[in-house]
Amino acid sequence: MALIPKNHPRAKSLLIRERLVDGFENGVVAKEGLLAHGRGEAFDYLLGEKTTKAAKKAIRAAASALILAKNPIISVNGNVTALCPKEIVQLAKTLDAKIEVNLFYENRERRKNIVKILKKNGAKNVLGLQPKFYKRIPGLDSARRIVDKNGIHAADVVLVPLEDGDRTISLKKLGKKVITFDLNPLSRTAQTAQVTIVDNVIRGMKELLVVSKKLSSKNEQTLKKIVSGFDNKKNLSANISEIKKHLNRRAHLV
Ligand code: ATP
Ligand code: MG
Repeated sequence: MALIPKNHPRAKSLLIRERLVDGFENGVVAKEGLLAHGRGEAFDYLLGEKTTKAAKKAIRAAASALILAKNPIISVNGNVTALCPKEIVQLAKTLDAKIEVNLFYENRERRKNIVKILKKNGAKNVLGLQPKFYKRIPGLDSARRIVDKNGIHAADVVLVPLEDGDRTISLKKLGKKVITFDLNPLSRTAQTAQVTIVDNVIRGMKELLVVSKKLSSKNEQTLKKIVSGFDNKKNLSANISEIKKHLNRRAHLV
């Protein structure tokens, strides 16, 4: 791991980058995952590397929808596993949700490595390793079409951090509620999901865990009100406004 001085102005983001590189070296992250992370970093920079007010609102809606779900699932890939394995496992426990490995670039070894990391972090069961349970989502070419019949296929609410646009559209067509983390408010995923949390998973997943614990004691009516009061398009616009504000502030500094 590279040595990063604590007072380096970009220490946090460099440390996050190191986690991805470690994940790549340990066979968890795909090469392409490193590039996808780079795109995320650029948007995080534009947002000021903080969880915006709008993102907090989306997190409340996401937590409520996940608590209300009959059969919630967290879909994980290499990047999310490298960045926040502990939070994923704790969130699954809090929500009584399943976890399933779902990859864009299929690789059985990588699937196994991801499951190993999640188990090391306390996961009891992770779906996605047993071909006898595989089902295919119609209309998709990438490996992401392969899902577990007792997992994503059966779920009503799917949390898909860092999802691909095509699959978000397919999951929605199958009648699922899709909740995603995406730092790019303009991506197809961000624009298609019912709840988009425009935040870095490394910060947002922690916040989602805290809020889910808090809201889990609320009654159904309160949670339904939070969900129905959330408008994803409006929320995405609010995030774009945050980017503009941040850029204006930065521009005045130079
Ligand atoms: P789409 O397929 O939805 O149109 P895309 O093709 O532009 O999006 P992908 O490569 O499919 O992008 O997905 C990667 C997405 O994940 C990017 O939008 C990127 O901003 C986002 N991303 C990458 N790293 C993070 C992170 N740590 N936290 C949140 N989002 C991230
Ligand atoms: Mg894509």
